[in-house]
Amino acid sequence: MSNWIEALKKEIPEGQIMTELADRYSYSFDASFGEYLPDVVVQAKNKQEVVYIVKVANQFGIPIYPRGQGTCLSGGPLPVYGGMVLDLSQWPEQITLNVEDLTINVSPSVLTARINEEAEKHGLMYAPDPSSAHVATIGGNLAENSGGPRGLKYGVTKDFVIGLELVTPEGEVIRTGGQTIKNVTGFDLTKLIVGSEGTLGVITEATLKLIPKPPAVQTIMVEFDHVRTAGQAISRTLTSGILPSKMEFMDQACIQAVENFKPSGLPVDAKAIVIIELDGHPQTLDVETKLVQNIMSSIGATNLIIPKTKEEADKIWHARKQVSPAIAKIKPTKVSEDATVPRSKIPEMMDRLHDIKNKYNVEVVVFGHAGDGNLHPNILCDKRDQEEMGRVEQAVEEVFQAAIDLGGTLSGEHGIGTMKAPFMEKELGEVGLDMMKRIKDSWDPNGIMNPGKIFPEKGQKLVLTDE
Ligand SMILES: Cc1cc2nc3c(=O)[nH]c(=O)nc-3n(C[C@H](O)[C@H](O)[C@H](O)COP(=O)(O)OP(=O)(O)OC[C@H]3O[C@@H](n4cnc5c(N)ncnc54)[C@H](O)[C@@H]3O)c2cc1C
Repeated sequence: MSNWIEALKKEIPEGQIMTELADRYSYSFDASFGEYLPDVVVQAKNKQEVVYIVKVANQFGIPIYPRGQGTCLSGGPLPVYGGMVLDLSQWPEQITLNVEDLTINVSPSVLTARINEEAEKHGLMYAPDPSSAHVATIGGNLAENSGGPRGLKYGVTKDFVIGLELVTPEGEVIRTGGQTIKNVTGFDLTKLIVGSEGTLGVITEATLKLIPKPPAVQTIMVEFDHVRTAGQAISRTLTSGILPSKMEFMDQACIQAVENFKPSGLPVDAKAIVIIELDGHPQTLDVETKLVQNIMSSIGATNLIIPKTKEEADKIWHARKQVSPAIAKIKPTKVSEDATVPRSKIPEMMDRLHDIKNKYNVEVVVFGHAGDGNLHPNILCDKRDQEEMGRVEQAVEEVFQAAIDLGGTLSGEHGIGTMKAPFMEKELGEVGLDMMKRIKDSWDPNGIMNPGKIFPEKGQKLVLTDE
């Protein structure tokens, strides 16, 4: 091992190479399930350092695991084969706004929320808004193709990236796309890289598209006495000619968890709530708010709250953001999934989740960006209880199967990583998966870039127990 570390030390400042156990341990987990200890952690602060590190890794055949802030929910940055974690979070923030082009250039370490902050200073908006925007990097967002509540109306990260700079797995620098909104020169490598989960190279810069910030927003919170009715309300709204910017769902367990964690005035007796945000011209919002009210009362909503001030609306959205930390308090282990189904199938998916919960006697809570069919069933458990984890494994498999049966997908935004790799073939088919693998092999002939991710090893199964 010492040879390649010595090689790294020739060009990378010593303070950026960490070999102590305590440091390595800090990089052995993300926000998902597994734990894997890297041999070394290397911090890169510019493109030249990334190029050098990748070349050393190729020379010595060492796995590289790119990492932003480690908030991944599918095991993306975990060093499953040891080697080095390449920490990009310490790269100094670089943001260049091109107001007249409505674009922004950013370094990989920039926290997502900072991009929108800069855009808003000029009346613009960077629409992708993952709930982790204040703690996750744009590099991680690009690698995972992250989305958020506003994805319903505006799309996800891939819809806002027009150009990338990438250090390839062999240490070459390429630029894809550019500064123009339209670009059909050759294959769309930008879109191929976005969502490739760090398996095709290290993103060192991105050009992102901005849009004008809508002049006004209106929040509406609707309460239901049945989860299925909430699902129907979502479909009914979306087929009524209105496109809200956000439509978020929380079941009763999530509502109660938030109220126990940080009381926010959510209705603890409701079986489910749907939180809607409309955006646009104020007069349009008045009309659309009335339409939403009519739809909700016709479908049997038990209550509807229209906040009168920005503070009241912010309080509701803040409560929505508290769901993840709040449910994590219920039991020591949280297995978060993000199976996504066609919108018409939301009520059916709700039923399937209810059945899975009863069948395996596991605690399942559900929230998510229901307007785009992206539900987050979370199984709350205790990883020290092997018998319970066995049931959780079966329940997770069945959640994936339910999503696929209903014409959906394993992941709407959290990515495949290690956890969903065993199920890829179920969704893509043998040939579809092989085509992806062939792309990976030609980009990364030495197999050093984030190995062990996305593609299942032979016979790989979901394992949540200590086998
Ligand atoms: C409380 C909470 C809420 C969340 N909410 C959402 C949500 O609403 N929507 C959503 O989509 N996700 C959400 N996530 C998941 C997570 O925040 C996103 O996946 C995010 O994009 C990860 O960013 P990161 O900087 O933490 O990347 P990491 O977790 O460090 O890495 C993620 C992946 O990106 C790769 N990577 C990182 N940087 C680069 C780079 N520069 N070049 C190449 N590959 C790279 C890594 O190898 C890894 O595969 C949430 C997570 C938490 C903990």
